[in-house]
Amino acid sequence: MTNTLDPSNKAGWKLENSYAKLPETLYTRLNPRPVSSPQLVVLNKALAEALGINPEALESEEGIEVLAGNRIPEGAEPIAQAYAGHQFGHFTMLGDGRAVLLGEQITPEGKRMDLQLKGSGQTPYSRQGDGRAALGPMLREYIISEAMHGLGIATSRSLAVVSTGEPVLREQRLTGAILSRVASSHIRVGTFQYVAKWDTVDHLKKLADYTWDRHFSNRDPGDNRYLSLLREAVKGQAELISKWQLVGFIHGVMNTDNIAISGETIDYGPCAFMDTYHPSTVFSSIDYYGRYAYGNQPSIGGWDLSRFAETLLPLLHQEEKKAIEMAQEVLSEYTVLFRKHWLDGFRNKLGIFDEDAQDVKLVEDLLQLMEKNKMDFSNTFRTLTLGKEEEELFGVPEFEKWHRSWKERLESPKQSKEAIKALMRKSNPSVIPRNHRVEEALVAAVNEQDLSVMEELLEVLRNPYAYTQEQEKFAQGPSSSSKPYQTYCGT
Ligand code: AMP
Ligand code: MG
Repeated sequence: MTNTLDPSNKAGWKLENSYAKLPETLYTRLNPRPVSSPQLVVLNKALAEALGINPEALESEEGIEVLAGNRIPEGAEPIAQAYAGHQFGHFTMLGDGRAVLLGEQITPEGKRMDLQLKGSGQTPYSRQGDGRAALGPMLREYIISEAMHGLGIATSRSLAVVSTGEPVLREQRLTGAILSRVASSHIRVGTFQYVAKWDTVDHLKKLADYTWDRHFSNRDPGDNRYLSLLREAVKGQAELISKWQLVGFIHGVMNTDNIAISGETIDYGPCAFMDTYHPSTVFSSIDYYGRYAYGNQPSIGGWDLSRFAETLLPLLHQEEKKAIEMAQEVLSEYTVLFRKHWLDGFRNKLGIFDEDAQDVKLVEDLLQLMEKNKMDFSNTFRTLTLGKEEEELFGVPEFEKWHRSWKERLESPKQSKEAIKALMRKSNPSVIPRNHRVEEALVAAVNEQDLSVMEELLEVLRNPYAYTQEQEKFAQGPSSSSKPYQTYCGT
């Protein structure tokens, strides 16, 4: 019987757990650990509706109990997923140490979406951790993941944050919280690494088949579906990471456990958006060597995909040598695809409709100019989009020269001014979640229980390409006196 037939299921839960049908070595069954007095802090009503869940029911006491992990909705089969991963290049066992997957909500459109509670208590994979999360970081994930969605970038999303009524101890006592996170799945490169390293080839095959069916069943598997699985992952990351580059998003912790095979952005820990353009920009306090700097993201994506390819070797071909050759060929497509998306994306940002061999130079010249003159990444494109460069950028050394070549480029083939503007508007966000704005919203929410600042920010970020009047003040970069921004992992 489906939940929708259950008259008491006012919330609209339609949960299953297909992952829990995989071999038991891949996860541990366990319930979230109940918390003492959960309170709803923020609810994503639009997302709830898209999932077929009634937002009012989620706001009720019963709904909040579900979002806090105190009550298990019908159809859920809570599990913590096992996975491994390369953290800053070092391989280790990980797993959901503070998250529980309740199951998959089947949406009214028939999509299967993971519903995971993050901060839901200890699991067998917690190692030394307390299994909990603090309110600030969970709200931060909520804001940035929703901003990414608004920007049109594939991402896990945030359904709600509840505070637990229990403190968490970090350097200081903080308010505990649980984020409910929605994603196409939480299958990571690290999930495959875990199985490849410690489980059987039979289980690896089951995981690969499951992943194919779950994410790529509408694609052509060709005569080797495992090779096709690799190819789809390559395509997904090439597209995803190019989009990060185009908006100045720095993930901050592209460990293989944080790379989803679905091609969605997952794991919002130390991520942040770049203000001033510089390829070596890093925000994470623990990324000492800049492994995950803005300019390194594309090549790290390739590195992570190579780790994925290694796990698939036994499924690709009986002979390892042949399997390696096959994997390498598909992996080599990554750079080509990435460059294509990257260049197409920058062409769009500059209002260019067709392709010319000189376009790479045009883009790179602009980036170099931005780097040299410490220009704001998003606002440079915003200024060009608004046609305000004469007022705002003409004083910048060498800018006018670049500007002339750009204008010349736009002459051939000639496009209408309107068409160029329209393309630029939909390719250059007028607002991004600026670090100083995100911090301001978090301080108000966490220290003053004032959620209005965050709500206003979320509203603006919902339509980042709208170029409305209200967005203007959110477009400004930080004041020059601001300290360098730093983000923290495992928060
Ligand atoms: P992350 O840096 O978020 O990718 O997390 C790396 C690993 O640490 C994952 O296995 C997490 O589940 C685990 N982890 C992070 N924070 C905690 C915590 N407070 N308690 C238990 N495990 C944690
Ligand atoms: Mg992680």
